[in-house]
Amino acid sequence: MTAPAEDLVCSRKGCRAAATRAVLWRNPKIHDESRQKVWLACDEHESFLQEYLAKRSFPVRTCAVEAIPPDAG
Ligand SMILES: [Zn+2]
Repeated sequence: MTAPAEDLVCSRKGCRAAATRAVLWRNPKIHDESRQKVWLACDEHESFLQEYLAKRSFPVRTCAVEAIPPDAG
């Protein structure tokens, strides 16, 4: 990740806050285990997005935006 943090915006609908966290997840029905989807999150919405996915029983974890795996997307 070489882009400045200011260019990363929270994935929560309607939120324009700078993203500081990444939510890494996959849907086991359509993604194999090597795939990781990334949603960006501001401090406020990290838990919202994580819980949204966890409720669907999707594997989910979070990390700092600086720590997003290069193969995730
Ligand atoms: Zn947000």
